[in-house]
Amino acid sequence: MTANPSCIFCRIVTGELPADFVYKDEEVVAFRDIHPRAPVHVLVIPTAHIDSLAQVRAEHQMLAGRLLQVVAEIARDLGVEERGYRTVINTGPESGSEVAHLHLHVLAGRQMRAMG
Ligand code: AMP
Ligand code: ZN
Repeated sequence: MTANPSCIFCRIVTGELPADFVYKDEEVVAFRDIHPRAPVHVLVIPTAHIDSLAQVRAEHQMLAGRLLQVVAEIARDLGVEERGYRTVINTGPESGSEVAHLHLHVLAGRQMRAMG
């Protein structure tokens, strides 16, 4: 899948829109969320457009693993590994997802409430 010109995260990947990047490679980039919900709030995304986790198939297995690996690397680099962090993927209408390009939220730097 290639860049989708109507997708804001694709436009961040191509450099058309600015972002505060914390990580970049060919397959995965990460940047700070524009409306942070924690002292550290980073979005980790594939550079290729995938609408959401619901579209992930066997062909994405390597990429899906890579996304998680990058989350762990970023958490280490940002110094939040020891205290801990929350990783969230919103999928579909009832998740409250706003951007239709697969992304993993990494939230850290404050005490999170238990999920119930
Ligand atoms: P979600 O609700 O899971 O779809 O998350 C989308 C996230 O993208 C929200 O936390 C937004 O604050 C964030 N966001 C939207 N536009 C931008 C942008 N231009 N740069 C960085 N983060 C953004
Ligand atoms: Zn996109």
